[in-house]
Amino acid sequence: MASITIRDMSVSYNKKKTYVIKDLSLDIKDGEFCVFLGPSGCGKSTAMHCIAGLLHPASGEIRFDDEVMTFVGDKGKNKTFVPPQERNIAMVFQEYALYPNMSVRENMSFALKTKKIPKAEIDRRVDYMAEMLSIEPLLERRPAELSGGQRQRVALGRALVRDPQVFLLDEPLGNLDAKLREQVRYELKKIQEQLGITTIYVTHDQTEAMTMADRIVLLKDGLIMQQGSPNELYNHPADEFVASFLGTPQINIFSCDVRQENGWLVLDGGAFRIRAPQSAQASLKAYAGRKINLGIRPSDFELVQEGADAIPVQVDSIEPLGDAYLIYVRIGRKVAVVKYAGETAPAEKELLLEPNPAKLHLFDPDTRKRIND
Ligand code: ADP
Ligand code: MG
Repeated sequence: MASITIRDMSVSYNKKKTYVIKDLSLDIKDGEFCVFLGPSGCGKSTAMHCIAGLLHPASGEIRFDDEVMTFVGDKGKNKTFVPPQERNIAMVFQEYALYPNMSVRENMSFALKTKKIPKAEIDRRVDYMAEMLSIEPLLERRPAELSGGQRQRVALGRALVRDPQVFLLDEPLGNLDAKLREQVRYELKKIQEQLGITTIYVTHDQTEAMTMADRIVLLKDGLIMQQGSPNELYNHPADEFVASFLGTPQINIFSCDVRQENGWLVLDGGAFRIRAPQSAQASLKAYAGRKINLGIRPSDFELVQEGADAIPVQVDSIEPLGDAYLIYVRIGRKVAVVKYAGETAPAEKELLLEPNPAKLHLFDPDTRKRIND
């Protein structure tokens, strides 16, 4: 197992210096489950390919522990480049290809045989991994005799029997249906913890990232927007993009005027007015007389009968989720969504909702950066 260090890595697919990754620096701890998350085209696969050694950055450095895997100095000078097959990595993609004319056991053994590992050791490793992935009964079958989920598990097993120091997964569950995805997600996380293998997992799916990651690295246009634990990013998004990318349904954003009222700063959204919480007063001072964007997550509203900071809303529609309801409401001319965990849906068409003052997210409308602590 290894830690991964990336320093000032820039990547371009052409010579015109249009970088799809810009000055990326990142430290991934030994044994960490790190998720590269972001919209399609943000550079997740590109960054992973550089770590795998399939792609050469224009500049920067990648180390596994203290060992330099890739180094490209200023203006492309002093290059060092360890080829992919010498990096002791294993990769699994969405389009994994199993050998169709080999059994599951042969598929899983193949890479080890080419490394001239003794048969008894190969069998031991394959049996161990098959047990971990619950595919022992399938070992003598061919890929065509397996379901999609089983095949994906074989692909994971085939990568893991090689005992890699770094495990790289690029949207590996994309082809599975939702229920299977949940199951393989859970198993993958469990195995990764047991093996303690440093893992980078690429996905555009925030649920996968939230549920599996020790650390999420959220990328946009080749830049890291924020990195940290799932809870850090969810509860303390550094900007509006991060706030909107994590959480489903998405966070509600309201444009508000910041006004002084009796020495206290309030947020005036037109159809509502709430006092800014004590903890935000200092950081909001500079915004008095200006606008900010107020973010409130759907689950951070409470249904109340009265309250100084209650927001009057009109109910548009209600969707039952089983354990909660999504209530789509109108606040003035704006539509917002509220997650309500009551036993029964509210019958009234007009409601009062009070946002949890500890969970308000305030953003600068120009830079989109977070304002409050
Ligand atoms: P992601 O995996 O986050 O969806 P990628 O890393 O695949 O994004 O792509 C990042 C950017 O680089 C995109 O704009 C994409 O069009 C571009 N790109 C990816 N691969 C190539 C390539 N082989 N040649 C040229 N441009 C590429
Ligand atoms: Mg990709």
